[in-house]
Amino acid sequence: MTYRPPVDEMLFTLKAVSGLDRSIADGVYPDLSDDLVASILEEAGKFAASVIAPLNRVGDRAGTPLSDGRVTMPAGWKEAYTAWAQGGWNALPAREEYGGQGLPALVNAPCLEMWNAACLAFALGPLLTCGAIEALTVHGSQALKDTYLAKLVSGEWMGTMNLTEPQAGSDLNALRSRAERQQDGSYLITGQKIYITYGEHDLTENIVHLVLARLPDAPAGTRGISLFAVPKFMVGADGTLGAHNDVRCAGVEHKLGIHGSPTCTMVFGDKGGAVGYLIGEENRGLACMFTMMNNARLGVGIQGVAIADRAYQQALHYANERRQGRAPGAAGDGMSAIVDHPDVRRNLMTMLALTNASRAICYLTAAELDRAHHVADPAEAKAAAEMGALLTPVAKAFSTDIGVEVASIGVQVHGGMGFVEETGAAQHLRDARILTIYEGTNGIQAIDLVQRKLPLSGGAVVQAALARLRKTQGALAASRNPAFGQAAARLRDAVESLDRATGWMKTTLAGNRPEDALAGATPYLRLFGLVQGAAGLGEIALAAEAAMAAGDRAPAHAGRIAIARFFAENLLPAAQGLEVTVTAGAASVHDAPLALAS
Ligand SMILES: Cc1cc2nc3c(=O)[nH]c(=O)nc-3n(C[C@H](O)[C@H](O)[C@H](O)COP(=O)(O)OP(=O)(O)OC[C@H]3O[C@@H](n4cnc5c(N)ncnc54)[C@H](O)[C@@H]3O)c2cc1C
Repeated sequence: MTYRPPVDEMLFTLKAVSGLDRSIADGVYPDLSDDLVASILEEAGKFAASVIAPLNRVGDRAGTPLSDGRVTMPAGWKEAYTAWAQGGWNALPAREEYGGQGLPALVNAPCLEMWNAACLAFALGPLLTCGAIEALTVHGSQALKDTYLAKLVSGEWMGTMNLTEPQAGSDLNALRSRAERQQDGSYLITGQKIYITYGEHDLTENIVHLVLARLPDAPAGTRGISLFAVPKFMVGADGTLGAHNDVRCAGVEHKLGIHGSPTCTMVFGDKGGAVGYLIGEENRGLACMFTMMNNARLGVGIQGVAIADRAYQQALHYANERRQGRAPGAAGDGMSAIVDHPDVRRNLMTMLALTNASRAICYLTAAELDRAHHVADPAEAKAAAEMGALLTPVAKAFSTDIGVEVASIGVQVHGGMGFVEETGAAQHLRDARILTIYEGTNGIQAIDLVQRKLPLSGGAVVQAALARLRKTQGALAASRNPAFGQAAARLRDAVESLDRATGWMKTTLAGNRPEDALAGATPYLRLFGLVQGAAGLGEIALAAEAAMAAGDRAPAHAGRIAIARFFAENLLPAAQGLEVTVTAGAASVHDAPLALAS
């Protein structure tokens, strides 16, 4: 089953949820028009489906073998990558001064979704290169920018992120890699990094590693970490490549999924030290990383949407082909397509509704992050930045959690054919599983939401988010369209649950009981995501209703209303249960040692 980019649905969501056309009209994106966005998405979709999607199985089977320190990428990947970069796709979100196209996150988001739906392992390398470009753009010296940015933006070179060490995963306090100052202003880096995505490969002639390390006199903890650019090959003043730097790939992991993405152990300084160049200020490396954290986390959230959509498309196709049993009320006496069985329909609707809801959350987050950069009014920009910051952990964790769930339901829809590798349904589940772990585990996202994001501006940001949810609920309630069923009532109840759970979190944190708040952080994030997702689908449904009222007969509109209703009536009622878990579940979590003692 090949991949069909859902360009119409993406464009509809961009307008209905993230206000793309309103922002264009307001001049937030001066160089954009509806038509331009549509044609970019159409072209990206064609490339994703025809060039990238065929790489997915190839990469899964071939993996990325390491021999003599060199990683060989799967057959056809280099050609596809080169064509992709030459098509300008890597440059889409980068600034124009270094050859980028300067397009907003909101336009890049659907493109990212298509690259990742086509082949997650392929799209992951460029996602990290994008993070390296951002870090250098915002924090790099002019000399560093001049040396590296144009090549990274064009895609001729790729970038990596080197944070993790064996003893330092979620907790970067424990980081040990070292950096020694040199007379010429450069640094010598020594240490070992693990799980480095695209740490070594043969797609590009150079790789620029961004590495976190400590100076000898650095303060302890995260205030003593600096960020360095460490090229694989040294770069001369005229841009030509010189000697191999003292960095090597010592191993490639064997793993559950994304087999086409080389996950490398990197050794820096075997022969005395890898030459590195400081990015930003000494001991401020983590702050530099945090600058791009929102975008990187949103990128991973979009990977969740992407894999969910791919799994859904495949399951729907299979459910239309496979015939078993007789569906209630089926005509004739033959077997029915399994898509006609109510339980399979429930599965498929759950897949579709979760996918579209998480897409809506991700696009809304992208729009806020864009507005933070593009609106002129400082107060409005700050409000957008804070709303983007609040929504980011929800976008990352909710979308990747549902990515795994949807891919798992996809296996179920296939029956035994899902468990064997032949159909590809199993690969989606295996590939999806990493998304809840990297770029900050989903547990860490939930902690971030509760401890750092809810208190933003004294709680005003989350109150603004609740007010917005109530506005959507009010609009749904005002519609008398019977096709909406109980959507407005369910959303009203769920918003109240979120409001009470938020109040409980606030009181609990103010009462200095972080252990209680943290015990409920993950169910709280799920509750937030469910309500935000339901509101997004509600906005899409209302826009569909308006289009129908204006005479637009596209069959997708009735489907959009049906999806919002399904989500509200079948998935959203979990909100009340999650509220109880958040507000009354902590004590039994604290009793865990009674049961976990071995
Ligand atoms: C395929 C793959 C690609 C990766 N790519 C990169 C890369 O390119 N660059 C890079 O630097 N890293 C990369 N990573 C590393 C990844 O970011 C880490 O694995 C991740 O941050 C988790 O760290 P850890 O594995 O050490 O788990 P741990 O930190 O040991 O966490 C284990 C469990 O404990 C929980 N936990 C930990 N601390 C807390 C806490 N304070 N409160 C509550 N729960 C907690 C976590 O949520 C998790 O469930 C990659 C990993 C993989 C597997």
